[in-house]
Amino acid sequence: VTDAALAARLVAMIREVPDYPKPGIGFKDITPLLADASLFSSVIDGLAGPHRDGGIDLVVGIEARGFILAAPVAIALRAGFVPVRKRGKLPWTTKAVSYDLEYGSAEIEVHDDAVGVGQRVLVIDDVLATGGTAAAACSLVEQCGGVVAEIVMLMELTVLNGRSALGRHPVRSLVSY
Ligand code: AMP
Repeated sequence: VTDAALAARLVAMIREVPDYPKPGIGFKDITPLLADASLFSSVIDGLAGPHRDGGIDLVVGIEARGFILAAPVAIALRAGFVPVRKRGKLPWTTKAVSYDLEYGSAEIEVHDDAVGVGQRVLVIDDVLATGGTAAAACSLVEQCGGVVAEIVMLMELTVLNGRSALGRHPVRSLVSY
């Protein structure tokens, strides 16, 4: 499939749920896409993209929908998988980053031995909105001594300009809204 054909299928299969989880938010529900065998497989291919030729050691998935996408990408790339989780969920010693949300703040963590110095990492999630979550995940990778090779998102909400929060890191997404 071409990038444009895949993007068109994604737009058709990502369900927008108005006012969820609160008024004014249009939630992008990827469950119809995940249940479509051929589209899910094409999405994993698309996310893995140019990295099939090598160069990636680890794929980071951001809780929770990022896990669903990052683990199969890791297998496709013969890379390891690392979970970045919300505070308090990981059992071992961690590094943590807190960041601002529209209302309040959030904190994510990674095991402090999950990424080795110099390892090349893909950071994956479903939606790039303000970019705060992805920026925090990149900061965790770098605190561990890892190198963010690319941030790969299923979709980006361009009006929120998340790329501006991600500095010099390369960003790729399969579909833009
Ligand atoms: P942000 O930190 O603002 O870029 O938000 C990204 C995180 O919030 C991701 O983990 C997304 O899964 C989730 N998210 C943000 N906006 C939406 C949306 N409209 N629909 C679904 N998930 C969203």
